[in-house]
Amino acid sequence: MAGMRSTAEKTDRLGYLDALGIDVWRLRGDDEPLDVAETVHPEVSSAGWGEIRAAVSVCQKCVLHQTRIQTVFGVGSETADWMIVGEAPGAEEDRRGEPFVGRAGKLLDEMLRALGLDRQTVFIANVLKCRPPGNRDPHADESSQCRAYLDRQIELLKPKLILAVGRIAAQLLLGTDAPLGRLRGRPHKIGAAEIPVVITYHPAYLLRSPSQKRKVWQDLCLARSIVQSS
Ligand code: URA
Repeated sequence: MAGMRSTAEKTDRLGYLDALGIDVWRLRGDDEPLDVAETVHPEVSSAGWGEIRAAVSVCQKCVLHQTRIQTVFGVGSETADWMIVGEAPGAEEDRRGEPFVGRAGKLLDEMLRALGLDRQTVFIANVLKCRPPGNRDPHADESSQCRAYLDRQIELLKPKLILAVGRIAAQLLLGTDAPLGRLRGRPHKIGAAEIPVVITYHPAYLLRSPSQKRKVWQDLCLARSIVQSS
């Protein structure tokens, strides 16, 4: 199981984290085998891309580490103007370690292509880096524990625009429980850098309700106009 690691694996991880300059703290006098994820305290708020990627890969801050195959950090260009934020990895993403690679992901690729973009020129991430079992909605403690990783990704990337897809990503990013229909259609701003956020429907919802594609295209055009004017 992914959560049960051999001593050799732990030693490898320690070497890797050490090479990245991440401090690993051990309790004095503690003879128990070292549990990396419980003892690594990287300062996420000041971590670079490599450090944050390493920290996510061993994260055990919430119960989702017990059922994941692997973490899903995000994919794309670290200098992208566009950041796409979804909810959480699904089964296929959990297997492949990449966000939006299932059926909904293929539709997201088409949406990007319609804008002249692709997954190498944007950065795609989720609010949660681990798959909730059965694709259930994230629990509040899971999203709040994972939030620091997303916030740091945003700070490092400094995108011109964040496109939040789906209700959960929109509500968590904006800190609201307003319904998606009330959030889309106008830009929002988040953080000290006041990064513009545009909300649209989740591609998985579009697969079930293709008649909403027109509204999504309007949202994408709004997003594009913000990127082009910044
Ligand atoms: N849905 C999401 O929100 N994110 C993924 O990575 C896949 C499906």
